[in-house]
Amino acid sequence: NLSSGIVGLANVGKSTFFQAITRSKLGNPANYPFATIKPEEAIVTVHSPKLDRLAELYLSQKSIPSVLRIYDIAGLIKGASDNKGLGNAFLSDIRAVDGIFQVVRGFRDDEITHVEGDVDPARDLTIVQDELLLKDMEFIENSLDRIAKQLKNKRNRPADEVARWEAHQQTLAIAYDHLMEGRRILDKPDWTDDQIEALNSYSLLTAKPTVFLLNSSKNDYLRGENEFLPHVQDWVRHNAPESPVILFSAEYETEAVESGGPSAIPLIVEQMRQALHLISFYTCGPIEARQWTVRKGTLCPQAAGVIHSDFERTFINAEVIKYRDVEQLPAPLNEKLLRSSGKIARVGKNYVVEDGDIMRINAAA
Ligand code: GDP
Repeated sequence: NLSSGIVGLANVGKSTFFQAITRSKLGNPANYPFATIKPEEAIVTVHSPKLDRLAELYLSQKSIPSVLRIYDIAGLIKGASDNKGLGNAFLSDIRAVDGIFQVVRGFRDDEITHVEGDVDPARDLTIVQDELLLKDMEFIENSLDRIAKQLKNKRNRPADEVARWEAHQQTLAIAYDHLMEGRRILDKPDWTDDQIEALNSYSLLTAKPTVFLLNSSKNDYLRGENEFLPHVQDWVRHNAPESPVILFSAEYETEAVESGGPSAIPLIVEQMRQALHLISFYTCGPIEARQWTVRKGTLCPQAAGVIHSDFERTFINAEVIKYRDVEQLPAPLNEKLLRSSGKIARVGKNYVVEDGDIMRINAAA
């Protein structure tokens, strides 16, 4: 159940965007089973044309999409990494999320104060990123101190524990040097799997996949152009390569909810899912068609465990149908025909689930 947080300087439109999500038809779905939602938390359903099609093919009574949790994180201010003002709460909130939506102001409005004086999203991106880099460096310094203390009396410690601390020490030192150059942890392409596993236990802020959202006027959004967009794209290419940039309008999203206009929310959610390397598989029948979310590379038993935690342990095998094999077929699906034409595959524990798989899990009772 992955989550993401909305981050940015004050007055850039974060709350406006968050409110639009909570009021959107895609937001806070009524049939969502875990209904306790905090005020700063929104749940947005993942727009899935595949799920809609599958519900038709299986004559399902209802369809249940996956969701993404989105947190409104209190405003970041310059100097947050020195624990000024909201800094501290902000930093612990952001540590808890898996991905970051960074909202940056690209609209002019003399009525709305810009905390830095004028509208300059490339400068704002640098301010926010510098805060995150500094906070990661500070966090690594503290972690290295703690590890050094652990290693002081290493003769009294189990050898495997000492080896693990020493490996963490090495990885954190590499991470620190990388941050010193002004680069995000995410942007070092040659981390080994062991290093990544070590880094994961520190929840570093610049290791979190980020989607950049340029908040513009309604007009700019609808025409797909904004005077700052090229600067922002350029900045991201240099300072946060591979991260997507989306032009949207926080103000217009609120209107789009009411008027049914072209909302950017489905694209925003989709880009975050891609940044988090998430894929969907489906379970389908006459009662419900349901979309499930796992990380790319997930093995079948772990994917089954998302449906029901017991299934990971009791998993026997699964039957898989590829979405592309049924997409064009007439409803209702003829399973006998699918089976006789070899479109239903039986897979075991080592099968890696693919995006669009329709699964039926066999588990021991
Ligand atoms: P936050 O501090 O980042 O959460 O910013 P808010 O969402 O509270 O927005 C700050 C002010 O900017 C509010 O008065 C919003 O109505 C306004 N605002 C947000 N988005 C836009 C926009 O796209 N255009 C204009 N003109 N104003 C906006």
